[in-house]
Formats: sequence, structure tokens, C-alpha cells
Amino acid sequence: MSCQDNQTGYGMDAHVEQLLNLSAQTETLIAVYDGDDRLQYANSAFRSAYFIEPDETPLWPDLMRRNFELGRGTVLRTDDFEAWLRSTQSRRGKIGYRAFETDLCDGRWLWMTEAVQQNGWMLCIASDITRLRAQGRTVRQDRDQAIKASYTDELTGVANRRFVMARVDDMLAAARTGGSGCLAVFDIDKFKQINDRFGHHAGDLVLRDFAHRIHQNVRRNDCFGRVGGEEFLLVMPSTSPEDALAMVERMLTVIRFSRPLADSPDFSYTCSAGIAASLPSDSASELYRRADQALYDAKMSGRDRVRAA
Ligand code: GH3
Ligand code: MG
Ligand code: MG
Repeated sequence: MSCQDNQTGYGMDAHVEQLLNLSAQTETLIAVYDGDDRLQYANSAFRSAYFIEPDETPLWPDLMRRNFELGRGTVLRTDDFEAWLRSTQSRRGKIGYRAFETDLCDGRWLWMTEAVQQNGWMLCIASDITRLRAQGRTVRQDRDQAIKASYTDELTGVANRRFVMARVDDMLAAARTGGSGCLAVFDIDKFKQINDRFGHHAGDLVLRDFAHRIHQNVRRNDCFGRVGGEEFLLVMPSTSPEDALAMVERMLTVIRFSRPLADSPDFSYTCSAGIAASLPSDSASELYRRADQALYDAKMSGRDRVRAA
């Protein structure tokens, strides 16, 4: 197959080579992550800022964890790395484009942009802005922290209702131009009994366990969050009902095998789920209502199962 650029007549390979040469020389940081968040390409500026060997292709969470432990790379204002990771991951790559200020332990300030494709691949480009806009940096940082908090559920650290409902709207907007997605509602079974029998603190531990385990099984383009009490949503854009069902079944199995209470090692719990596929005419509340109805069916037919609308 021949790939010719109409304007210049250069072959595609020559363009790619030029691009890679430019990328190797520029001070701009450039990186590409795949849908599993594994680094697939990084230029030398990026590798040097984040201490990545030339042939290394780490997963993003591992890279961040390693640099945090060694006090280098991105400045993270937290004592609890895993909580930071969960909150950041539950928003990372869920929106097509994001831009933000970030600072490095070496004192540099970066303007980072993230562009995500439908298949989950992400292009990150960062420019050095150390000498720009130094004034008001703390104010902007406080603002960014506040925005982050406004999208995060405090107890579990995953996305909150506001963030996840906005992703339902995104999915419905995208579905209007083709391709439909699914919404799943999860509700922990007999949660009131768990609270009554083991206490509210144990109930909170179960909520955290649930959120963390599901979060670990969420794909890049999907969005998972807590909408209230012991109820959670999973937004799955461009996903067939069959695939959504299979994925949620797997998640229910993960929960079935969990033993979250160290003081009661035999204790286990379950959850039920309802799934609805989006229709071109749907509003968020209409789609939610159908998923909720399916959840009700799952509860009525014995719990610990998933039903599709
Ligand atoms: P079902 O199987 O039908 O869902 O039964 P259930 O007991 O889970 O449902 P119900 O809605 O009756 O009970 C939900 C309970 O969740 C009641 C409330 O006290 C508890 N709850 C809500 N939010 C929290 C929380 O943040 N922490 C704890 N520990 N409990 C919570
Ligand atoms: Mg409930
Ligand atoms: Mg419940």
C-alpha cells in the first residue's frame, strides 16, 4: 500500500521519521499511553522529566508510584498515594481533552494537555511555563484542588454523582451521532443489615472495598462513580448490551469473592446491578430510570445478579 501525502509528495514513512526526529530534539514533553495506560512512546524530554529509561514502557500508575516514593517527577500534594491515584484515575482519560498546570519536584512548571481517542489511546504534551504566570500560582493551585474535590466522593475516593452524571450526558451526546452505550446501576445487597450487624464503620469499609474493586476493573473510556449511599453507576460509552452484561457479571464475581472485614474473615457480601442501553432519544434521567428498573428486577429475583432493561 502506498501512503503519499498529496501536498508534498513525501512518503508517509519520511513524515513519521521527521516527526520522530523533531520530537527527539524538542524541549516539549511528548508521550503516548495506550488504553491500558501503558506508556507506548515518550520523547527524551518526557523521559528525563519523569525518570524513564529509554526502552522502558511502564504503566502510568507504576510510574507515578515509583516517582512519588523517590520524591521526584510530579509534585503530589498528598500523604496517601493510593487515595490520590484512585481519585485521579477515576477522572483520567474520561474526557476527550483536558489541560492543566502541574509542577515537577525539580521546580519546573508545566502546562500539560491530554487528548484521548475513542480507543483509549492518549497523547500527552507538556510545555515548560516556569517563567510564565508565576503570579497567582497558589491561587490557581487551590482552585484546581477545589475542582478536584468537587468531582470526588470523599468516602471512597472515586468519582462522585456530579462527575459521573456529566459522563452520562457526554455518552448520550456522542450516541446521537452513532454508536450507543450502556449504563449500569449497582446497589449493595442487604447493606442495612451489614451496618446493623457490624456497625457503621464496617459498613464504610465495605463501601470502600466495593468502590476500589470495581474501580480496578473499569476500562479507560468507562466512568465509575458513587451516586449516593450504597449505589454506584458505571457509564460504558460505545458498548453493546452483551459486552456490558459480561463485564458487570465479572464485577459481581469479584465482589462475591471479596472478604473486606479483617475482624470477620468469613464475612462476604454481594451486590445487584441493572443495565440499560442508550436510545437516540434518551435523556440522562430516562436512561437512569430504565437501568434502575432493571436493578429492581435483579433485587426482586433474588439479588446478587444483573438484569438488563
Ligand atoms: P437491598 O438489598 O434491597 O438494597 O437492601 P439494603 O439494606 O441494601 O437497602 P436500603 O436502601 O434499605 O439500605 C441502605 C442503607 O445504606 C441504609 C443506610 O443507613 C446505609 N448507608 C447509606 N450511606 C451510608 C454510608 O455512607 N455509610 C454507611 N455505613 N452506611 C450508609
Ligand atoms: Mg440502595
Ligand atoms: Mg442496597
